[in-house]
Amino acid sequence: MAKHDYDLFVIGAGSGGVRAGRIAAGYGAKVAIAEEYRVGGTCVIRGCVPKKLLVYASRFADDFEDARGFGWSVSEPSFDWPTLVAAKDKEIARLEAAYGTALGKAGVEIVQERATVVGPNSVQLAKSGSTITAGKILIATGGTPWLAEPRPGLEHVITSNEAFDLPRLPERIIVAGGGYIAMEFAGIFSKLGVETTIVYRGDKILRGFDEDLRDHLTEAYVKQGIRIVTGHIFTRIEKTGAGLVGHLSNGTSLTADQIMFAIGRTPNTAGLGLDNVGVELGWNGHVVVNEYSKSSVDSIFAVGDVTDRTALTPVAIREGHAFADTEFGGKPRMIEHMLIPTAVFSTPEVSSIGLPEHMARERCSKLDIYKAAFRPMKATLSGRDERMFMKLIVDGESGKVVGCHVLGEDAAEIIQMAAIALRLGATKADFDATMALHPTSAEELVTMREKWIAPTEAAC
Ligand SMILES: Cc1cc2nc3c(=O)[nH]c(=O)nc-3n(C[C@H](O)[C@H](O)[C@H](O)COP(=O)(O)OP(=O)(O)OC[C@H]3O[C@@H](n4cnc5c(N)ncnc54)[C@H](O)[C@@H]3O)c2cc1C
Repeated sequence: MAKHDYDLFVIGAGSGGVRAGRIAAGYGAKVAIAEEYRVGGTCVIRGCVPKKLLVYASRFADDFEDARGFGWSVSEPSFDWPTLVAAKDKEIARLEAAYGTALGKAGVEIVQERATVVGPNSVQLAKSGSTITAGKILIATGGTPWLAEPRPGLEHVITSNEAFDLPRLPERIIVAGGGYIAMEFAGIFSKLGVETTIVYRGDKILRGFDEDLRDHLTEAYVKQGIRIVTGHIFTRIEKTGAGLVGHLSNGTSLTADQIMFAIGRTPNTAGLGLDNVGVELGWNGHVVVNEYSKSSVDSIFAVGDVTDRTALTPVAIREGHAFADTEFGGKPRMIEHMLIPTAVFSTPEVSSIGLPEHMARERCSKLDIYKAAFRPMKATLSGRDERMFMKLIVDGESGKVVGCHVLGEDAAEIIQMAAIALRLGATKADFDATMALHPTSAEELVTMREKWIAPTEAAC
């Protein structure tokens, strides 16, 4: 008789958990996966996928305008938010079903309820109350929007979870936060015609990104009419007849129909029972794991956002896959958490691979910087006042490109390809030797010849 009910019990059917479960089952393991909400997890249900669909929707606003410059006459376009939400929901439901089918085909049993850990090899199901044992438990519970410390009126704000399904498009929105989710939603709402304000506690949006990208996006957003208030937080929110009034730490206030908090996410371990079984948790409740995603308890593992390594879907998927290969496939494998391409699907889009300049300066004794800011070809006839920006950061000693940053149309698509080059250790000479593909914006990356000289250096 088998010692446990399952070889592997996965908690959380998101990016990491689904991949781990499917691969482990493929190696012959008996696997079950518990999901308390919807199969697919954050990325599919209320993250990357619906977000990108809304981004596409928002960008049509510019396309209709730009078309005129190319000879098209377009009657006044109109937009219907409920139609978009319904279409988005249909696609999400399709993907959710596809995830369920894929798990079923792989032989993974789906348990549609909340699970908590009650022992090193046992979990309890919330609805049925039954206890299940497993040789290994994988925590893949992801993250959840963080609302910071309690303050009056917080019950009136929404997070990204609710923003996807608003019954109607607000006329005015305030997005609190300076990270990628805040920037993306501000861009979506603004392009859909919503009067948009960003409130951020720091001095400049997109902390951690290259300074040039931060400056260029700030400039582009301000030019589009997005108001950016920095250096302040909301101290309280009040619901009035005129809308939601957000009181700021400088004593002023802002009024809007919706206030969205996108000020960070926190690992989903509350009430999961991990502390009861001795699993070490980090400063914000994340599961502390080693390079093979093993926790401080031998039979308990964790992958994805709940480990607070790099909170991105492809990373969660890779971690889940590597865990299954290691524990069930006899192929020990760890994931390198470096050279991870990232994007902000703002409009204009921002994307990066490698080091931002401030970090490269700490690591390289000599740097060569190349920058290009130009009007993309499409803007010549559309008349749109937009700039594309590209930056290469080169280690002055080895000649290796250590950072590549792009702002503008298709930035993320360009960076995905540049990521291969950086991974292979491409030098600036390799970029230069690569034939340009004309006419494109990306060709600028292989035709930049002039080193950028900082104004202070130039003056010396
Ligand atoms: C608005 C937004 C936009 C994003 N955009 C991008 C993007 O463009 N690109 C990108 O790479 N990443 C993006 N992300 C991040 C990405 O969604 C996450 O990194 C990814 O989903 C993490 O996968 P995961 O497997 O760790 O967890 P999740 O996908 O979050 O899955 C965890 C699952 O566990 C379930 N669960 C939790 N607790 C329990 C329990 N006790 N019992 C049963 N089930 C439980 C949850 O319901 C959830 O379905 C975005 C995130 C958000 C919020």
